[in-house]
Amino acid sequence: MAVGDVGPAGPPGRLALDEFAPRSELVVPVTPLTGPCTPVIDAHSHLGGEFGGGWDRRPVAELLDVLDAAGVRCLVDLDGGWGEGVLDAHLARFKEAAPERFACFGGIDWGAWPDHGDRFGEWAAGRLVAQVRRGAQGLKVWKPFGLRVVDQRGARVAVDDPRLDAVWATAADLGIPVTIHVADPVAFFRPLDRHNERYELLRAHPEWHVAAAGLPPFETILNELESLVARHPATVFIGAHVGCYAENLAWVSALLDRCSNFHVDIAMRLDELARQPYTARRFVLRHRDRVLFGADLPADVPMYRVYYRFLETEDEHFPGPCGDAPGRCWPLTGLGLPGDVLQDVYFANAARLLGLAATAPAEAPSW
Ligand SMILES: [Zn+2]
Repeated sequence: MAVGDVGPAGPPGRLALDEFAPRSELVVPVTPLTGPCTPVIDAHSHLGGEFGGGWDRRPVAELLDVLDAAGVRCLVDLDGGWGEGVLDAHLARFKEAAPERFACFGGIDWGAWPDHGDRFGEWAAGRLVAQVRRGAQGLKVWKPFGLRVVDQRGARVAVDDPRLDAVWATAADLGIPVTIHVADPVAFFRPLDRHNERYELLRAHPEWHVAAAGLPPFETILNELESLVARHPATVFIGAHVGCYAENLAWVSALLDRCSNFHVDIAMRLDELARQPYTARRFVLRHRDRVLFGADLPADVPMYRVYYRFLETEDEHFPGPCGDAPGRCWPLTGLGLPGDVLQDVYFANAARLLGLAATAPAEAPSW
């Protein structure tokens, strides 16, 4: 008898965790939803490149058809760095094809730190100016920062290292936002044992586990992020993945209260928000002018609909945007946000930070 089969004589044997695939028997309302209630800016997307693991290989016209069908007016492509060649390729492929539909962000070449030593910040700030001149509309900071980025002596660079002040000041001068992702889900930093709430996911992706010797604890990195945002009030920061700490909305909320330059996107944290739906709803309502829509997944109509269902409806216990891939996403409960709040989250907040027209286009949606 195979493991897990129920024999005629009694209960099943032991079942391996990755074979457990329960089907919900819950009978609850399902809201029919074909598109968002208002146009959307996806403020967290990856169209591929050096870090993104390959291009979005669809012809751009095909991608635009998907965005039209999903109600997405503008896609922020965070993969425009590092290197002018990478940025230029993204600008040429996407931005030039449809200037209103894409915004490309640049990046920082941490590998050049040994060449510039303690003047690295000034050099990186200069590169940022050049990137914006070419057409970059923001700066993306990736999660190796604070974790594995080292200086010319091989020492870890703290997120609030003053040698980088010129970079943040330059972003403020240029009037561009900095989307910053530091750390990862808290469980990635905890021991990989039976108490780890992301065990299934980390078992499938052991390379994401960051509890190795020599790496800083989660709390150290987040304290540094708080210090960075507070020390640079003129710089607009967008903390990716709900301020990098979706598990602790009180912490994120306190930072949003304290620092008006701080914003967050909701990318790939629907399950974290959905398992605390009352707190999450209060969080979005309180910070409605600082929460941005972002998906962090390849553009796809069914995927976007899951996001819309989560934000707009009060549907309960439905699959997340990654379907039933092991450990990828716990079932969702919708937040049922009001229409005026959705307009801010979907469009107005990102439009303001990106310097786009502040209101959604008036024409009737095509979806
Ligand atoms: Zn991302």
